[in-house]
Amino acid sequence: MKTVLITGGSRGIGAATARLAARQGYAVAVNYRQDAAAAQHVVQEIELAGGEALAVQADISLEDDVVRLFAEVEQAFHSVTALVNNAGTLERQSRVDQMDGARLLRIFATNVIGSFLCAAEAVRRMSTRYGGQGGSIVNVSSRAAVLGSAGEYVDYAASKGALDTLTVGLAREVAAEGIRVNGVRPGLIETDIHALGGEPGRVARLAETIPLGRGGSSTEVANAILWLLSDEASYVTGTHIDVSGGR
Ligand code: NAP
Repeated sequence: MKTVLITGGSRGIGAATARLAARQGYAVAVNYRQDAAAAQHVVQEIELAGGEALAVQADISLEDDVVRLFAEVEQAFHSVTALVNNAGTLERQSRVDQMDGARLLRIFATNVIGSFLCAAEAVRRMSTRYGGQGGSIVNVSSRAAVLGSAGEYVDYAASKGALDTLTVGLAREVAAEGIRVNGVRPGLIETDIHALGGEPGRVARLAETIPLGRGGSSTEVANAILWLLSDEASYVTGTHIDVSGGR
């Protein structure tokens, strides 16, 4: 049975990925940090459509939570064949000279360390080195890793740069062990994350800077994630797909 764990699956890109994965026959573990009702809503939608899903609370920046998260998913689904490192966060738009250490630790704890911890747990289960059957990992990065997010959140952009390096390094480390590792770099996608930065209307403001002339949808990102997870991408590892309308 195909099983996928999606971190931050309760909203936005993670929720769209959960719905699409269920339609493609995956049993889906929907991780969330605090919004239990949103995660449960995604699970109910999947179950109503005849799929299998489970909501699991865990703050991925905390190692004990990540260990428990994978144990609970494994207990329910008996294996984890795919991981989507989607959970990510940002804080209020500001310049680097206005950021303090506590903020930097929060951003890097979720976006970088959380993704590393989840990748490590996944590899221990998927790798043929440990008796696993192989698997696939997709890291949800951002075009910000390339563009830098000047004046908005260079900390967030730098954390996604680190995630891109994890994608390349881990892909080469585990390629011979049956695991492919890839990334997607979304551009401006209509989700709640922009409100966290203090500008809910950010996508509309920047739409004219996007060659395709509009923001993207969570489903358009989910399509790329599901393709990378699938056997159709069997010769693809250590690379990134930009889902950014050309920006
Ligand atoms: P979103 O709507 O804000 O959703 C974020 C999700 O991550 C929520 O499910 C949230 O759960 C979860 N989360 C945050 N911190 C967590 C933690 N420490 N542990 C576990 N779960 C955590 O964001 P989104 O726009 O869908 O973003 C998804 C990913 O795409 C992120 O990595 C983001 O950086 C990336 N991305 C987004 C855009 C965009 O324009 N939207 C562009 C580029 C990249 P709770 O609600 O329970 O806290």
